[in-house]
Amino acid sequence: MRVCVVGSGGREHALAHVLGRHHDVVVTPGNPGIPGSVPTPAEELDSDLTVIGPEAPLVDGLADRLRSAGRLVFGPGADGARLEGSKAWMKDVLVDAGVPTAVHGAFDDEAGALAFLDTMGDLFVVKTDGLAAGKGVLVTTERAEAVDAVRSYLSGDAFGDAGRTLVIEEGLTGPELSVLAVCDGSTAVALAPAQDFKRSGDGDVGPNTGGMGAYSPVPVATGSVVDALMADAVEPTLAALRDRGIDYRGVLYCGLMFTPTGPKVLEYNVRFGDPETQVVLPRLTSDLGDLLAAAAAGRLDGTPTFDAGAAVAVVCASEGYPTSPRTGDRIDGLDAASAVDGVTVFAAGVGAGPDGCLVTAGGRVLTVTGQGPSVDEARRLAYAAVAELSWSGLRCRTDIAATPTCPGE
Ligand code: AMP
Repeated sequence: MRVCVVGSGGREHALAHVLGRHHDVVVTPGNPGIPGSVPTPAEELDSDLTVIGPEAPLVDGLADRLRSAGRLVFGPGADGARLEGSKAWMKDVLVDAGVPTAVHGAFDDEAGALAFLDTMGDLFVVKTDGLAAGKGVLVTTERAEAVDAVRSYLSGDAFGDAGRTLVIEEGLTGPELSVLAVCDGSTAVALAPAQDFKRSGDGDVGPNTGGMGAYSPVPVATGSVVDALMADAVEPTLAALRDRGIDYRGVLYCGLMFTPTGPKVLEYNVRFGDPETQVVLPRLTSDLGDLLAAAAAGRLDGTPTFDAGAAVAVVCASEGYPTSPRTGDRIDGLDAASAVDGVTVFAAGVGAGPDGCLVTAGGRVLTVTGQGPSVDEARRLAYAAVAELSWSGLRCRTDIAATPTCPGE
């Protein structure tokens, strides 16, 4: 099968890498660090299956346009992508579907938002309604910080139009889990669970980022935990979407928190997570292309299989990420890092520099994935490869998967 992957980050590199085990793959637009990258738009590429990676083109209706042209597409249309394009709408769907989630309110006025903030406990959560590249969520114990966020979101200063409507939520606590469900419109199958690290600094301090690392499998996220999540969250959500006339064919990424009062859904994303994809997909032992093509055709059958080992991904970011990433720094050591046994390096914010070298071209530059028989071994390999990499200002967390947490602990 000829497969076209749309996007240019580490997630798309991992999709292309794993699809490439069984199929011919091109990536559009990709980046100079992803083999098979082409500048031709997806609409003009001849492919048997198109897999859309990022949320922005999904929200923008790329899947609808390709489907109208008769293409087989893995990724929801703009109607289903609203789950990620509007957190307020997503919360409405969750409530309708009876899925447990944080108490919340959606506001476009300061007085209403601040009054609701005062009904929250000691942990304040303020989110942009619209897309903000994973950075529009503030979780803080400081009321003053939450108030500042409300003002800067609503004014458009912080996130432009994405924040002019915002969602305030009850602050929840507990270990988190990400489950990626592959959906064909009416049924869904879960991929192996993963856990990601959102905060920029070691020990989970600093601002939220797009994600600084991940690992899979997650201890105690057993088959029955995942089955319960599918039955209590994913399936009712798919049914609620169908009730709205939405035929959802793509990934439903469920971000979950195991709170003292039971599991609650924090968010849905409408695409593979980044960097979760870089640990989940390398562990797949069945054919990814067949799975995604079956879902895209509305005919899922069979269950994906995963190896018994573990994968750990460490994101290497540029100086200043996530606030103001510096670009243009020369990347050294890529070959040596990739040569570490059991390691794959996925290219994200990578550009072409002078004399054929690669340079940093974004916040998250590379994801280094180690695979081994255990989380400890996978982690050791990933960090051995990270040690080979260098650029001015390279920063990564040193504690990814150091103490895997367990749902319920
Ligand atoms: P989201 O993009 O909505 O998943 O939020 C990003 C991150 O913010 C999550 O992975 C959590 O770590 C944190 N977060 C989101 N919602 C809440 C909440 N209601 N309570 C506590 N933390 C949250």
